[in-house]
Amino acid sequence: MRTLTILGATGSIGASTLDLVRRNRAAFRVVALTGHGNVAVLAALAIEFGADIAVIADAARLPDLRAALAGSGIASAGGAQALIEAAQRPADVTVAAIVGCAGLAPTMAAIEQGKTVALANKEALVSAGGVMTRAVAQHGTTLLPVDSEHNAIFQCLAGNDPAHVRWITLTASGGPFRDWPAERLRHATPAEAVRHPNWSMGAKISVDSATMMNKGLEFIEAWHLFPVGADRLRILIHPQSIVHSMVEYRDGSTLAQLGPSDMRVPIASALAWPARMDTPCEPLDLAEIGTLSFRRPDEVRFPATRLAREAVLAGGAAAAVLNAANEIAVAAFLAGQIAFTRIVQCCDDVLAGALPAPPQCLGDVIAVDREARVRAHELMESAR
Ligand code: NAD
Ligand code: MG
Repeated sequence: MRTLTILGATGSIGASTLDLVRRNRAAFRVVALTGHGNVAVLAALAIEFGADIAVIADAARLPDLRAALAGSGIASAGGAQALIEAAQRPADVTVAAIVGCAGLAPTMAAIEQGKTVALANKEALVSAGGVMTRAVAQHGTTLLPVDSEHNAIFQCLAGNDPAHVRWITLTASGGPFRDWPAERLRHATPAEAVRHPNWSMGAKISVDSATMMNKGLEFIEAWHLFPVGADRLRILIHPQSIVHSMVEYRDGSTLAQLGPSDMRVPIASALAWPARMDTPCEPLDLAEIGTLSFRRPDEVRFPATRLAREAVLAGGAAAAVLNAANEIAVAAFLAGQIAFTRIVQCCDDVLAGALPAPPQCLGDVIAVDREARVRAHELMESAR
């Protein structure tokens, strides 16, 4: 039996992870579960899984959480520092599934334990970059990618020398607006943006998929996780989301990982690694699917992946700035304050300004993130 903490237990990845745990109760003991503001869901999960502690990020909701857990024997805590302390509680595996840079500090705390971190929270790695990968190396932590593309690449690299890699190809569904003409994109609504054709996900990543910034962030994530160089990383549109990514070697062999569009597959791969575990997902029926198609991305309609590549090449704080600007712009779009096409424009504008010094430690990354958020707000205000 392994001990397990889930940071962001009340979200989409959290729910998929707990669904697997529910089906494999003998394999895991839950240490800590965290959520942002949904006390009812968090308390119900903590009770169902017999967690040691439940932590609510919004400290104002702590009294409600206490009340909901009264008599259960489950400890409770609230606020940003409590998230970090929950992540410091010994756990064999921590699933980092908070959305956005808000997950960075607790994810770093989990990494510093030197155990296994299953990373879904791509924004944390994109922002912290070398600060995080150095901590992983320093503490001897096993960092397992949960993002489906990176999990696929991780599996395709197993047993191979990265020196023999010719290309790593990240596949992308292209999102709900894949075939929309540029003119129509301007009028895309939040409801249309979160309706992803293949995947059921949280609102922020759904919008990121629609702008293709998700693939941009994933490009940066891959650059850190698989250091083969930016010129060996490519993006390919694959509308069916069956081939989750691939690695081509110097001899012309391409290894791909295929599976249903269900995050329980990559999560199970990370939870059981290096072994395998069952999932309730339907076996892949390629005859039923019939056709797998691929095409090159269109960076004129969807410039986000170009911005991400430029941020990698610029280095230093650029990726953290890009991520922060995107978080602010996506929130503004979801709140109905800016047009869909302004999201990536805002990122471009913030990146075009002076970049802060390269972050050397977690505190630097958090400062860069904060500053870029302020800048993104200012630019959006002045553009109105
Ligand atoms: P979600 O919005 O469904 O859930 C996010 C979780 O983070 C929730 O538990 C929420 O309560 C918590 N949270 C939100 N804001 C917080 C804050 N300020 N402080 C602390 N906790 C906070 O998101 P999701 O779709 O589950 O995605 C989670 C992460 O996984 C994201 O980084 C996303 O990019 C990544 N990811 C998700 C999918 C997917 O299929 N959903 C796939 C690949 C990667
Ligand atoms: Mg992904």
